[in-house]
Amino acid sequence: MNKVAIVGGGLAGLTAALRLRQNGFEVEIFERYPEPGGLARVFEAGGEPVEAFYHHIFSSDASYVALARELNVEQHIEWLSSRMGIWADNRLWDFGTPASLLRFTPLGIVDKLRFALTTLQLQLSADRTQFEEITASEWLRKHQGERAWKTVWQPLFRQKFAEKSDDISMVWLWGKLRLRGRSRSKSGAGEKLGYMRGSFGVLVEALAERVIQLGGKLRLGEPVRRIDRNDQGFNITHRGKTTEFDQVIVATPIADYLRVASHLFLDDYLIRLGSIEATAALCTVLELDRQLTPYYWLNVADDSIPFGGLIEHTNFVSPERYGGRRILYISNYMMPTNDLFWLPAAKVLDLYLPFLSRFNPDFDPSWIIAQHHFRAETAQPVVTPGYSRRIPRFETPVPGLFLCSMAQVYPWDRGLNYAIEYGERVASKVATSSAN
Ligand SMILES: Cc1cc2nc3c(=O)[nH]c(=O)nc-3n(C[C@H](O)[C@H](O)[C@H](O)COP(=O)(O)OP(=O)(O)OC[C@H]3O[C@@H](n4cnc5c(N)ncnc54)[C@H](O)[C@@H]3O)c2cc1C
Repeated sequence: MNKVAIVGGGLAGLTAALRLRQNGFEVEIFERYPEPGGLARVFEAGGEPVEAFYHHIFSSDASYVALARELNVEQHIEWLSSRMGIWADNRLWDFGTPASLLRFTPLGIVDKLRFALTTLQLQLSADRTQFEEITASEWLRKHQGERAWKTVWQPLFRQKFAEKSDDISMVWLWGKLRLRGRSRSKSGAGEKLGYMRGSFGVLVEALAERVIQLGGKLRLGEPVRRIDRNDQGFNITHRGKTTEFDQVIVATPIADYLRVASHLFLDDYLIRLGSIEATAALCTVLELDRQLTPYYWLNVADDSIPFGGLIEHTNFVSPERYGGRRILYISNYMMPTNDLFWLPAAKVLDLYLPFLSRFNPDFDPSWIIAQHHFRAETAQPVVTPGYSRRIPRFETPVPGLFLCSMAQVYPWDRGLNYAIEYGERVASKVATSSAN
């Protein structure tokens, strides 16, 4: 029987394992953390699991919903209204609906009109090629004006891409707006986002269980240290042991792939991989005894504040689920070379705390019941013009070794749905290559 090692127990690795096992392959998943799920892993707050990094799905996420159905957990998905806001000009504003745009005075009437029309144009435009080679900063300045760029977009791009904010391809924003338009109600007034009763961990658990039921092996807390070739296939080094496999899928971010496999490649492939950068995510989660703001998603368009977003999960999902606790994520993306990313958790919180009272003058640190800090060194690929030409294929220069990474997701933004879709696609590549 063909034996496949899968490095990485995130949604992509787990899905690839499921499809291969269903196809008769022997599979072993190696996951460095004690729990599966990768960026979608969960922890407990108020006795209920919740994501280490805030998550929701869109109604366009068909692969996610189809897998949930297959695993009999679709009934956990609930489509909920969400309220978006923006912090600009030293105050909170509703944002994301036509009515809120009208009330948003940091933009003038002409700015608003251009903003609304071009956003609609982007949502309706099916041809992505016109957006691939131009930066969002150039396109938006030209079509919406300098004020819209400086007031709204640049801060949003800084939140995701830090100092790379001016270099991002317009195709990235086009993809976001195009898919997001489909999550809105017909009136455009409200967006329904998906969450799972019991957290996204419900699907991760069901998926991992199904793989195990089918005879797959899940090795948790077992990082792969190195991948080597042997006469027949591959040696995987883990926990000081070496195990042989016929084929290998690395289902991790590119940085982790290079850590275990770079010695197998020639320079041109390494240079291509090295040209793909990613921002890191620093996520501080506070359990509070009361609400900070009325918004689920609050973009912080203010350079004087040391974080880019406040995601108040319990303005989306009822706080009753968490014993009445309010769950607040303080979101900060940055290049992994930024010193802040490596700062001890207590220092990060010290830096953030004085700013929380800007969003609610009553805020007091005594509201904090518990705090958690999560870091992801590779959280968001930096999609620059010409990105599609640099995306590595599932097949690597080494026959039998495959890559499945969030950096391959294109033109849509990476997400749970695409981790599943790409996991399925890499599994079918492995199956096809074995058949040949
Ligand atoms: C802050 C944040 C918010 C997000 N919000 C959303 C959202 O709202 N909706 C959405 O759809 N998506 C969201 N995402 C994206 C989503 O989480 C990812 O796209 C998806 O989980 C990626 O899955 P993956 O399996 O490709 O990678 P990962 O989840 O990164 O899994 C890779 C796994 O490989 C393991 N690994 C790495 N190296 C080794 C090794 N040497 N040996 C063994 N194991 C190894 C890692 O521990 C990890 O578990 C968010 C991401 C972040 C960071």
